[in-house]
Amino acid sequence: MARHGGRGWYGRVVAAAVGVTAVAAATSVWTAQAGQTGGHVAARPAAKKAVPVSATIVHASDGGDHAVNITIDDGPDPQWTPQVLQVLKDNGVKATFCMVGPQAEAHPDLVKQVVAAGHRLCDHTVSHDTTMDKKSQAYQSQQILDAERQITKASGGVRPLYYRAPGGAFTPYSRHLAASHGMRPLGWNVDSKDFERPGTEAIITTVKGELHNGPTLLFHDAGGDRSQTVAALRTLLPWLKQQGYSFGFPVR
Ligand SMILES: [Zn+2]
Repeated sequence: MARHGGRGWYGRVVAAAVGVTAVAAATSVWTAQAGQTGGHVAARPAAKKAVPVSATIVHASDGGDHAVNITIDDGPDPQWTPQVLQVLKDNGVKATFCMVGPQAEAHPDLVKQVVAAGHRLCDHTVSHDTTMDKKSQAYQSQQILDAERQITKASGGVRPLYYRAPGGAFTPYSRHLAASHGMRPLGWNVDSKDFERPGTEAIITTVKGELHNGPTLLFHDAGGDRSQTVAALRTLLPWLKQQGYSFGFPVR
């Protein structure tokens, strides 16, 4: 999540998204997201309005004091997201996927797979602009709410439950806007630095060494070759279990 360079792939994704027609939102599945509380689907067929949440940036896990939150940013990506999903499945771990709107729009099948596997969705804006905290409120609003619509449509009506500003570029305005739409601002405690591709062992060492910082761990499933991320998770998830950690979702 560092203010990483190499933004060219976003442009390609946006281009690829043109012409893609996302499937119509199916309100009947909006409660399918893991742990999402809601009313009776039949009684609330148009349950589009999210319940506001706290606007403070959350790091804590709903799994308690010895749980970690696995968060996966910048996807979905047709090459890497399925591999990350497989590692999570193999270890019985649920994670939170912070998605870039146009990529969700381009790959609705992947968004639906993420939801169907019991993971949660997070809004990671439209353009992944790590300087959006310097931009106008109108721009911030467009970035957050357009991505929210793209992700929700791609998922078949399952809303993102969190908002993570690219590069951590939150503002009070963006936090409150997201929160008013039911998306809790989501921070992180341990940056695995996987985006920089330092090598699988380095990613593992970074996570183990910084785990004392807090429970929310940051990885990526897009933006380049993520084979090191996949390999690191394959080692780290069993290791975390051996250390007595469980896996939760960020508190809402
Ligand atoms: Zn990101």
